[in-house]
Amino acid sequence: MNIGFIGLGIMGGPMAANLLKAGHTVRGYDVSPDRAGRLAALGGTAATGVVDATGGADVVITMLPDSPQVEEVAPLVIEYGRPGLLYLDMSTIRPETSRRVAREAAAAGVRALDAPVSGGERGAADATLSIMVGGDQEAFEAARPVLAALGTTVVHVGPAGAGQTVKAANQLVVGGIYGLVAEAIVLLEASGVDPAAGLDVLAGGLAGSRILELKRHSMIKREFTPGFRLDLHHKDMGIALAAAREAGVALPLTGQVAQLVAAARAQGHGSLDHSALLKVVERLNT
Ligand code: NAD
Repeated sequence: MNIGFIGLGIMGGPMAANLLKAGHTVRGYDVSPDRAGRLAALGGTAATGVVDATGGADVVITMLPDSPQVEEVAPLVIEYGRPGLLYLDMSTIRPETSRRVAREAAAAGVRALDAPVSGGERGAADATLSIMVGGDQEAFEAARPVLAALGTTVVHVGPAGAGQTVKAANQLVVGGIYGLVAEAIVLLEASGVDPAAGLDVLAGGLAGSRILELKRHSMIKREFTPGFRLDLHHKDMGIALAAAREAGVALPLTGQVAQLVAAARAQGHGSLDHSALLKVVERLNT
């Protein structure tokens, strides 16, 4: 298929590369021109803008930081996309924005899906992402071959916006686990127990998780190169709390984790990996 890919950052770059590997034609655009240049070096084409990436495409994918960027780019995709275009927004944004984009797309004959992902930079590179898709069932079936080149768990979770709601649930769980792993490290070290040995045991038992599997060594070494930036996780905790308010439910632990993430940003760690939540817990104890 001819695919336009907009937003070639930590996630979008390797995802676009995997679409090339799967045999698709990819025209990529990013406001940072060097990123589209990297895609061109892999056999893709560097587009000059959103309209250039969209024209002639069967599928357009956006992988942008937040709702304002999607609100800026989506209207151009919808206006310049061919009739029947499949538009997959894979960014993590507010469910209400996804619902609005889907409505505006449908009015213009474009099939839009919200398809946020989980699995991080590694999942993007290895094409093992979990992808939660909201929108029309028929559009989901049409998008399946493209999504299969990006992830291994691809699930249609409901109507427009439902993908973003599932992603919000994912992010509150991920944030909570990072907070607790950070507390475990602080406890082990303060008690004179080797944290590496301790976390090895946790990783093999009921407390085991993908986060412990992938991140325990780097957390103990205080290596916080992103990965997933705390700034983005702060955005996601805001989305989760807003979704909770809209649904009329109280999520007290999510509120607390959101405050820890906010503290990490206030302490100047916004551009570090979200595992740097450890720095906040340490600071509470020194
Ligand atoms: P990133 O900042 O590395 O990439 C975003 C890219 O979008 C950047 O290259 C930026 O230059 C580009 N961009 C911004 N505005 C643009 C515009 N108007 N037109 C074209 N390009 C534009 O972020 P990322 O880590 O790749 O995350 C992208 C999205 O995926 C976010 O919503 C994030 O929450 C989500 N996400 C990230 C991870 C992760 O581990 N990094 C995991 C799951 C989901």
